[in-house]
Amino acid sequence: MRQKIVAGNWKMNKTLQETEELINALQSDYTTTNTEVIIAPAYVNLYRSQELLNSSKINVSAQNMHFETTGAFTGEISAEMLQSIGIDTVILGHSERRDVFLETDEIIAKKVRKALDQQMRVIFCFGEQLEERKSNTHFEVVSSQLKSVLSDLSETDWNNVVLAYEPVWAIGTGETASPEQAQEMHKHIRNEISVMSSEAVASQISILYGGSVKPANAVGLFSKEDIDGGLIGGASLKADDFLAIVDAAE
Ligand code: PEP
Repeated sequence: MRQKIVAGNWKMNKTLQETEELINALQSDYTTTNTEVIIAPAYVNLYRSQELLNSSKINVSAQNMHFETTGAFTGEISAEMLQSIGIDTVILGHSERRDVFLETDEIIAKKVRKALDQQMRVIFCFGEQLEERKSNTHFEVVSSQLKSVLSDLSETDWNNVVLAYEPVWAIGTGETASPEQAQEMHKHIRNEISVMSSEAVASQISILYGGSVKPANAVGLFSKEDIDGGLIGGASLKADDFLAIVDAAE
């Protein structure tokens, strides 16, 4: 059985006080299910979030990290720093890191390598732009993103990878891939992973969908065979909506 996961990417939202409020709201209404629940608050709030959720089933992830261990990298955070406060999961390759902060596949590959070498778990994001879908190159684009970053992984590395397919045209736009479009791509991704690693890895890896997931569309998406949960942006900022999406993954 593949692990179902619903992860909330809070991006650059919520002050410390608002972070505490949202975590408290989540904790008071959350009932443990088989779905793993992860939240990714802003860096400055990670320590406090981890402290509040220490004995909870809700896990905390970072939204990004640098590939170096220490040094003159103003504004950056290392894997070791995250681990020193008990964070062992990191989102890498998010389209906003690619498009706004100009992270290339090469940079993302270095970050993924560093995180896996530290035995951290990576939620690796990728997905095509609107023009790429329109020109029918989306399968090619996604295959290339997977190969550029994940081609040299060992069996142990794969155990620490979660994939998040996020078509860029669906992120924060209110436009969602239909369950059929998402399933078609997730099947393609699973097939690519079986070629890059093994059938066993491909059948057990969790592949999340991200892009304007809401309580109203989550059931349709999560009921598809190769969709193992979601990476949620906007709707993860409200406890009720996020928990409704968690329920939809059951
Ligand atoms: C995201 O940023 O990963 C995301 C999926 O955002 P939204 O749910 O707001 O589209």
